[in-house]
Amino acid sequence: ARFARLRISGFKSFADPTTIDILPGLTGIIGPNGCGKSNVVDALRWAMGEASAKSLRGGEMEDVIFAGTMARAARNLAEVSITLTDTAGLAPVPFQNEPELQVSRKIERGSGSSYRINGREVRARDVATLFADLASGARNSAMISQGRVSALVNARPDERRALLEEAAGITGLHARRHEAELKLRAAEQNLLRADDLRAQQE
Ligand code: ATP
Repeated sequence: ARFARLRISGFKSFADPTTIDILPGLTGIIGPNGCGKSNVVDALRWAMGEASAKSLRGGEMEDVIFAGTMARAARNLAEVSITLTDTAGLAPVPFQNEPELQVSRKIERGSGSSYRINGREVRARDVATLFADLASGARNSAMISQGRVSALVNARPDERRALLEEAAGITGLHARRHEAELKLRAAEQNLLRADDLRAQQE
């Protein structure tokens, strides 16, 4: 899969809708201090499911919404969409045959985040699993933000293991296993209840 386009609206310093085409050969973004370079990377990570406001340099998740300036009113809604191409065969089941995926995350003041893939509402977990499978999760090792290198050096062994597992491409499997275990437990509970009911009938 290829990250082809990023659309940012109402997110951090991007008050107006902004589209960034990620063309082959893009190697860097330059600009003066504070112009919003890191916000582009934050937008990418956020849309991929980043759940920690702190790692997006905020106090709470709503802090990603454009907070206004002297000249402009704050917004109440932030939305970031990532367009992925060459995804045939990599996408989750209902989207399996679609050559292009549009993954978007939206947050509204007071009502939290919602996620969509190609316009269809999905769970945060579905987005996390998709990007884990593509080995490009919000915490993946290809995105190194400021301060991450020293954090890695000082990481606990279990944190370092998580990074290695992500690199090995098995993080998605862990998430699926967890989901399967939850389903199994629910099914076991249902079976017990069915047994109880049968015993009462007999
Ligand atoms: P540096 O070179 O210093 O790392 P940068 O280009 O990476 O800078 P960013 O950190 O991406 O800059 O952007 C910082 C700017 O984004 C600041 O001007 C800050 O006021 C603005 N900003 C961050 N969050 C919001 C928000 N919620 N609403 C409006 N502006 C915001």
